[in-house]
This record gives sequence, C-alpha cells and structure tokens, in this order.
Amino acid sequence: MVKKIDLLIIGAGPAGLSTALHLVRFNTAWAKRMLVIEKAVHPRPKLCAGGVTRIGLESLRDLGLSLPLPIPGVQVTDARLICNNKTINVRGQPMFTVYNRIELDDFISQYAQKRGVNIYQNEAVEAIEEKPDGLVVITEKDSYFAQVVVGADGSKGISLRLFTEAGCPKRVARVLEADLNVHGTEAHFSKACAEFNFSACQQHLQGYTWEFPSRIGNQPRFNRGVYDSRLVKSRPRADLPLIFNTQMEQDGVESSVDIQGHPIHLFHPKNRFSRPHLLLVGDAAGVDPLFGEGIGPSLAYGRLAAETINDSFLTQDFSFSDYKYRLMCSRLGRYLLIRWLVARLSYLFSGSVLFMNALWIVGRLAAELWPKPSLLYAIGNSYEKRDPMLEFEDYAD
Ligand SMILES: Cc1cc2nc3c(=O)[nH]c(=O)nc-3n(C[C@H](O)[C@H](O)[C@H](O)COP(=O)(O)OP(=O)(O)OC[C@H]3O[C@@H](n4cnc5c(N)ncnc54)[C@H](O)[C@@H]3O)c2cc1C
Repeated sequence: MVKKIDLLIIGAGPAGLSTALHLVRFNTAWAKRMLVIEKAVHPRPKLCAGGVTRIGLESLRDLGLSLPLPIPGVQVTDARLICNNKTINVRGQPMFTVYNRIELDDFISQYAQKRGVNIYQNEAVEAIEEKPDGLVVITEKDSYFAQVVVGADGSKGISLRLFTEAGCPKRVARVLEADLNVHGTEAHFSKACAEFNFSACQQHLQGYTWEFPSRIGNQPRFNRGVYDSRLVKSRPRADLPLIFNTQMEQDGVESSVDIQGHPIHLFHPKNRFSRPHLLLVGDAAGVDPLFGEGIGPSLAYGRLAAETINDSFLTQDFSFSDYKYRLMCSRLGRYLLIRWLVARLSYLFSGSVLFMNALWIVGRLAAELWPKPSLLYAIGNSYEKRDPMLEFEDYAD
C-alpha cells in the first residue's frame, strides 16, 4: 500500500537535514507532516574535507545550535592561497572550521531527531514517479505518495537524474582526497593554517590542491586533496592522481596513502532547480564552482527550500516556478553567482603564469584592504566538549 505524506526529503546530509530543521523551526507541526529517507545509517561514511565556512556556521546558528559545536573541530584562522611561490593570507576568526564530516552529519541528524524529525535510515530510494498531484517515491522497503519531494541526495542521487534524463546538462567537479596521520605539533597544525595551492593550474588543473588540519575523534590529522572544477571544457583534462602525488612529494609527505574520489555537482545559472512537486537542494541543486565548497551552501539551501515549501502549502501552488528566482534573489544565490563568475573567469586564464601573478598581486591587496569580518564566536583551538543532549535541551523555540 502507498503511504501518503505531505513532504518527503530524500537524503539526510546537510541539505536535507537543514530543510527539515528549518521547517520544524517555522512550525513544530511539520515534524509529523514530513519524512526524511536516507539510504545509509548515521554515522555514515562521507568523503569530504569538512571545512565549514561562515555561511555554513551562520546557518548552524540559525538552526539554534550554539558555536563552536560540541564535536571535535579545528578552527582555521589563517587560509593561505598559494600560486608560484606567491601567497595571499586571508585571516578570520575563524576563516572556517574543519569538522570530521561523519561526526558532523551524525550530530546534525541526532539534533534533527531530537527536534521530532522522522528519519528512516537504511532505506534507499529506487524510483520517483511523477503524478498530476504529487510524486510517488519507491524505496527498497515501501512506496510513498508525497505532495512535495525534496531532492537532497547529492551529486550522484536519483533526484538529479530526473533532470539529466530530461536533457539538463550536469556540470561536475572531480575531487580526490586522503586523510593523513600527524603528531599535531607540525607548524601548520599548531598555527591552525590551511593551504590552497593553485600552482598546478599550469598543468591544466582548474582548481587547487589543499591541506587542512583536522581531527578524527581526538586524533589530529591532515586532510589533503585536489579539486578540479572542469568549468572550461575546451582546456585539456588535468591528471589528478599525478598532481596529487607530486604535491605530496614536494611537501615531503609519504605518498602511499589511500586516495579516494567523488564528484561535486556545481552551481550554474542555467541549472534547473525544480519541477512541479520537486525541489533540489545542496549538491543535487549545485554548489560553489570556485572552491567546491558545499557544506555551507547546502545548509543555506535548506532555509530557502523550507521557506518555499511553507509558502507552497499556504497557497496550494506546487509548481515551484519561482524557486530559481527566490534562489537568485537570496544571499545564497548571490554567493553562488559571484563564485561562479570568479571561477569562470579565473579558470579560463589560469593556465597563464602572467595572469596568475597579476591575480595574486590584486588578491594580496584586496586581502589587506578587506574589512575584518565580525567575530562569530570566541575561538580557541581546543574544542569545548559539551554534552550534545544538553545542547539539544538548551535549544529555545
Ligand atoms: C573529496 C571532497 C571534499 C570536500 N570538501 C569539502 C569541504 O571541505 N567543505 C565543503 O564545504 N564542502 C566540501 N565538499 C563538498 C561537500 O561534501 C558536499 O557539497 C556536501 O556534502 C553536499 O551536501 P548534501 O547534503 O547536498 O549531500 P550529501 O552530503 O552527499 O548527502 C546526501 C545524502 O543522500 C543520501 N542518499 C543518496 N542517494 C540516496 C537514495 N537513493 N536514497 C536515500 N538516500 C540517498 C546519501 O547517503 C547522503 O547521506 C567536498 C566534497 C568532496 C567529494
């Protein structure tokens, strides 16, 4: 028998959980009107460096969580953008916080469940069928009829496939990463410094290699990786494993580590973000093409989707024809549009040493003149271990 529900969210990552949590924040009655379906079980594996920037940290705070979160994290105060031995230092309090993604998503999912959100885990969605007045979502265990479905199932999810099968182009970045053991006394680690190295742009990379200090449990680690936006298709394809290993060698790091890869679906102003009864959020909708930043934008998509869904039930208009307009007019839309523009221009010419040198001179000046952002929270590099359950109880409606 097909079960009926007002709203079904596919995927319990940052985008899906943020959508659910924002709805419950608008009105606690939403907890009974919606269902989140997740194919894995939290804490589930997730390939990601875990850097959460201001847009993500502010979204977490909007959800009622106090910062820093009561899970291990490293607060990065110095981000170094490097190209051909030139460095732009961007400082912030913090610039971003690095969380272990498995722990972060588990924490947010526990928080959502505590707020009454029903998450059916270990249940993969296998098909979505369009009907005149809603969508039928078929999982390996059940069938659901929902008036509204949110596709929060990431870059390789079934929701995005509905759009690509209908002829919408899918623009994805290629990403490789590895986690390395460290002692925690290394200079970068103790100075809470993260590096983004764009030198391999001369080897056709349309992105950068990175090194972030991170923690898994209480163990200090370095997360390293390579990001290739592949925005400019006319340029030759970069050899990512070669670039990754060369960078490791140059930095004197042992290269026999387990390297894994995953695509990131990128924002493009021509992307489609909705169809009747269906909204996309997070990676499924498209995230930052410049750095491949997706956690913060995914959390921010959640608010936008929640507002749109709330209004759709008030007006009984489920066409979602204004979702793209709402996105473009929002802070998130401007954020993604600027990142797309800068990425498009800079990765078009990033193969030229002359262009990159000029960009770094302008970048250094801009970093010096840029007004310092306000403090998000008092920082220190040891996280304050608080009981997550107390955190939930602290939550004020
Ligand atoms: C190597 C790498 C490093 C990265 N580093 C960073 C970083 O440092 N900072 C940053 O901001 N971003 C980073 N990103 C991007 C970031 O990980 C994503 O943008 C972010 O995870 C998107 O969140 P989401 O909720 O949209 O999707 P996801 O986090 O992918 O969540 C989707 C959820 O849907 C579930 N799902 C999928 N299919 C189904 C199905 N059929 N049925 C039910 N459930 C399903 C999945 O199990 C998953 O839990 C990185 C990405 C990669 C690949």
